[in-house]
Amino acid sequence: MDTLNKAQRSRNMAAIYSTNSKPEVFLRSLVHGLGARFRLHQGHLPGKPDLVLKRFNALIFMHGCFWHMHQCKRGSSTPRTNAAFWHTKRLGNTLRDKKVMRTLRCSWNVLVVWECETRNPERLKRRLVRFLKRCESSCSLQ
Ligand SMILES: [Zn+2]
Repeated sequence: MDTLNKAQRSRNMAAIYSTNSKPEVFLRSLVHGLGARFRLHQGHLPGKPDLVLKRFNALIFMHGCFWHMHQCKRGSSTPRTNAAFWHTKRLGNTLRDKKVMRTLRCSWNVLVVWECETRNPERLKRRLVRFLKRCESSCSLQ
């Protein structure tokens, strides 16, 4: 028997949906769980990185697969309606991304995390650990 009534179920679904729709919140909790401290959304930096980790001299971006044209299923599909419009818009994003990353990489360690990577938290965590380790070793050389 279904023990949830309709209202309860829609509340549940809303909760699940909002957690899943906020990959950057999930990313924050992962990074926090690794003991790294950060600031959020530093608007003065190009590309507005989601996380700024001063101690690691690092920036982390959370990129939506659709908007930034990731090479995954979601990123490589174009909506059928207004296809040209979407394509131009998303292509503009990726060109800007490239430029921004090039500029930032001169003075920061930069990591781009894709939205779809949050579906495999263990793997993403390992990637973050590797990144932070690399940052630590590059910081100590300076
Ligand atoms: Zn993706």
